[in-house]
Amino acid sequence: MVTKSRSLTLNKLFSLLIKLIGLTLSGLMLYILFRRNALVKSAPSKPKQTKQINPQPVIINTKSSQPEQIDLSGWQYILVNYDHPVTQEFIDNLKLVNTPEGYGPQLKVDERIYSQLEQMLSAAKADGVELYICSAFRSVDYQTKLFNNKVNEQLNCDLSKEQAIEEAASWVAKPGCSEHHTGLALDIVAPSHQILDDDFETTDAFAWLYKNSPKYGFILRYPKNKKDITHVNYEPWHFRFVGDKAQEITDSGLCLEEYFSKIKQI
Ligand SMILES: [Zn+2]
Repeated sequence: MVTKSRSLTLNKLFSLLIKLIGLTLSGLMLYILFRRNALVKSAPSKPKQTKQINPQPVIINTKSSQPEQIDLSGWQYILVNYDHPVTQEFIDNLKLVNTPEGYGPQLKVDERIYSQLEQMLSAAKADGVELYICSAFRSVDYQTKLFNNKVNEQLNCDLSKEQAIEEAASWVAKPGCSEHHTGLALDIVAPSHQILDDDFETTDAFAWLYKNSPKYGFILRYPKNKKDITHVNYEPWHFRFVGDKAQEITDSGLCLEEYFSKIKQI
């Protein structure tokens, strides 16, 4: 009897255990189903996993990338280069004044650029940068002397006369074709670096001029890699007055010839 009773109790316990397992499994199934359903339902409202892109402000470019039309007949836009000799009329109408004192030998510039030149030199001085003007206005006669000297130098290098003239012209403009005839161009260096060579670009004077000269109406006239157009080698010391458009021309990366031809196309 005792054995039968124990066997009944075990049977009851076993069936209870089965029920419990059944209930647990059912609960688990229901839970999984519920979770799945909930996930599916919530999916559309879930934010999309897209790459975070920082919002960019809308910039309205008020400055046109195209240069605006300007009257190139203005005196400050005179083009003097290999193909465009200065006119006698321009030379006859020149009014020259001495360069500001304290910046090298006394030289001559067009009186119309004196004020801005003086302001530029003073601003450099205030910034602790010393500038030295080693060349400004040149007469055609003086240019002839400079040019002939350069041609003779080249002839000593076993070049034909034609080759010597061609080579000399890339260093010293042919008489009549130098911007220095206009009184608007200056060779500016530093008291500590008066040699006209590429190393001038490593000086504080050049760094200052490169950054600030456009504010006073000057451009670096013979930039790097423009010799095919200007016919002049890179000259980090040669600055030319063009007035209000100096910053725009500098920012454009164009040399003066390229800038003018762009203006003519407008
Ligand atoms: Zn020069």
